[in-house]
Amino acid sequence: MLEIESKQNTKILATVGPACDSYDNLLALVKAGVDVFRLNFSHGSHEQHQAVINRIQYINDKYGTHIGILADLQGPKLRVGLIENDGIQLNQGDEIVFTNEEKIGTKEGGVYMSYPEFANDVEVGEKVMVDDGKLVFEVVSTNKKDKVTLKTLFGGVLKPRKGVNLPNTKISQPCLTEKDLTDLEFILTQPVNWIALSFVRHPDDLRDLRRRVYAKGHPAKILAKIEKPEAITNLKEIIKESNGIMVARGDLGIEVPMERLPIIQKDIIKKCLKYARPVIVATQMLDSMTTNPFPTRAEVTDVANAVMDGADCLMLSGETSTGDHPITVVRQMARIIEEAEKKYDIKDKRPKPSNRTRTFNSDVVCNIAATAAMDLKAKAIIGVTSSGYTAFRLSSFRPKTEIYIFSDRMHMLATLNLVWGVKCFYYDRFTSTDQSINEINEYLKENGQVKKGDIVINTGSMPLQKRHRTNMLKVSEIE
Ligand code: PEP
Repeated sequence: MLEIESKQNTKILATVGPACDSYDNLLALVKAGVDVFRLNFSHGSHEQHQAVINRIQYINDKYGTHIGILADLQGPKLRVGLIENDGIQLNQGDEIVFTNEEKIGTKEGGVYMSYPEFANDVEVGEKVMVDDGKLVFEVVSTNKKDKVTLKTLFGGVLKPRKGVNLPNTKISQPCLTEKDLTDLEFILTQPVNWIALSFVRHPDDLRDLRRRVYAKGHPAKILAKIEKPEAITNLKEIIKESNGIMVARGDLGIEVPMERLPIIQKDIIKKCLKYARPVIVATQMLDSMTTNPFPTRAEVTDVANAVMDGADCLMLSGETSTGDHPITVVRQMARIIEEAEKKYDIKDKRPKPSNRTRTFNSDVVCNIAATAAMDLKAKAIIGVTSSGYTAFRLSSFRPKTEIYIFSDRMHMLATLNLVWGVKCFYYDRFTSTDQSINEINEYLKENGQVKKGDIVINTGSMPLQKRHRTNMLKVSEIE
């Protein structure tokens, strides 16, 4: 058994990179509180990702953990090309041409931009943001073929390979790029639990990815990264079409006015609780710890606020992938989460089952289980799942008790490790309801999760063999 230092309900997702990708570091991160690792396909080769996946699998096999793996596809990330002298100074009012022609960029000759349909898609007056919005331009003219003239609104040094955001432009490029399709081919040969799709605009983007995942018979679930204004417009449908959501605050904070982020974050989390989709809050959570050993007070408050908003999971990016203190930052995040959870109950944010859904019956049973657990001061709610839904739904009510989930699908156990409060166990002996409940309760007692006299709430599905959604609950006293 691995000694895990932290006991938080809100999960931690850590991005893997050169600062933490050795076996010893990955293991130390798990001990410090990481529940899921993120492989960022914007960086690294397939060989490097394969090596990390093998190490995580080895940890799971050796220690019986269910650490999940999230593969994050780059999506249509736009960039400028190479630029002479490592950057050109642009002042307010200066004009610069962005072109499809690959070349070393100069102030007079123009700069390459990686989006082939840019001149065609963009309209005069639209904004173009570069380098995380540090430089802002406005479109003066476009030849609708391969050249766009921009006027500098906020200047600075335009550096090579910096990212470009087009917050007002209707992008015609599909969500999955050539690079994503190549990465996906590799990902679908791996035991990855979640695949994150970047720059989602429409539920069809997710349907397209899901078709490709199903075609390979892969059990990975699909997560939509919310980072475009169109995704905010189509939020409800995107949430319903996804298995999980990421509030990708980095790009989102460039694509929409930054001051809207706090309200958007709260709104997305509320809707995810309603539809029982796990939700990750991402980017710059403890950014200063990329170099400093301590966070700022504002960062501590941001992490605690995300917990109190009701997030399932908080993400670390550069802090763990390239930072100086990857393990300290996870310990720090776990401490902030634990403290916030101790003092705070999401109360009024608990969703109410909606009678307009096809999961209504099961949602009501899960809701009653969560309410009863609190009234009975039960030690745990216990669920059994093959699709994962019971775990998502039980967790969405954020009960103030343990949530123990049993499944006969090993892959599912690591998938559910992303979900608030859920702890997973393998169980595959589905003979009768009575027998399953007895065996599961006995197993938990033997493992020290519950003890004689504890009240637990078992949920399940009858008849057992049909494996429908959860439709029953039983209050048991551990013997
Ligand atoms: C983000 O923009 O917040 C984000 C998570 O995306 P990425 O790090 O993949 O650019």
